[in-house]
Amino acid sequence: MKAVLFPQAETISVETVPDPRCAPDEVIVKVANSGICGTDIHIYRNEYMSQFPLIPGHEFSGTVVEMGKEVTDLQMGDRVVVDPNLYCGHCDFCRNEQANHCSNWQGIGITRSGGFAEYVNVPAKAAYKLPDSLSDTQAAFVEPLACVVWALKRLSVYPADKILLLGSGPMGLLLIQALRHGNASQITAVDRQPARLQLAQQMSANQTVIADAEQPKHLKDIAPNGYDVVIDATGVPAVIEGAFQYLRPRGQFLQFGVTPMTAKIQISPYEIFRNDWTIIGSFALCYTFLPAMAWLENGVIDVTPLVSHQLMLSDFATGFEQFMAGETLKVHLKIGD
Ligand SMILES: [Zn+2]
Ligand SMILES: [Zn+2]
Repeated sequence: MKAVLFPQAETISVETVPDPRCAPDEVIVKVANSGICGTDIHIYRNEYMSQFPLIPGHEFSGTVVEMGKEVTDLQMGDRVVVDPNLYCGHCDFCRNEQANHCSNWQGIGITRSGGFAEYVNVPAKAAYKLPDSLSDTQAAFVEPLACVVWALKRLSVYPADKILLLGSGPMGLLLIQALRHGNASQITAVDRQPARLQLAQQMSANQTVIADAEQPKHLKDIAPNGYDVVIDATGVPAVIEGAFQYLRPRGQFLQFGVTPMTAKIQISPYEIFRNDWTIIGSFALCYTFLPAMAWLENGVIDVTPLVSHQLMLSDFATGFEQFMAGETLKVHLKIGD
């Protein structure tokens, strides 16, 4: 089959590799749509937990074309999305409803072969049958959206909270739509790119602020006493370090963006203490595929404006470079027929 391969850090090739083999508890998925994600950039730069060589891709939809003999709850031809987070189910964390911290955690497209390929083998328990009403494009958003559901389960947005969102890329734009359906009274979105801020406005952000030298002044004019919730959706250490100046006493800070694993920032413990701050992390997702699918099915989240490019597998390198340069929104690979 044809697949995208990261043979080593900072290297991309699209080549013919052996077809995946189907274990008794697995299915083979013929991939339809596969989304490029910021995490793929960290993997490519060797800033994440992956080993090389790797077939990346963890946001994909497709069709079941082969089933292991132990698989009973899926059928050939089922359209599915796949939760790339594989949990063992029997470690201390899994047994305490903390499956995303599973001691034996594996990630499809992270620590084992993923969905930038014609076919991928996945444990049947990680495949969710898609409702007919969801398109392949929507389906490839279930994974990133499940991360948004998880983030909002971690955070407690109280009635009329003022929210500051740093970073209005594809994930930030999903967050805005999700927050709009929650308790927030005011959402202020920041980005370096005016086009992204225009979309943020279209998704009913109340204010948008361009990330330039004037940003602190503009943000402080909007909320002189700070924001109840500040969310980082950039993963940029310098942005995160600067984010706390906007946080109101008793505010919550959510680290949503993925940073390089070794990044460090400076923060004053006295300020955390003095301001009653809450600092929250949000890693991947935790059994949040079904709520994400419900959001899409019920029209809470509109993903159509978020896809800027639909490319063939063979065009991966070009699309990935544009994505890394910030010249795109979500890039989808259309794989198969
Ligand atoms: Zn992702
Ligand atoms: Zn486990």
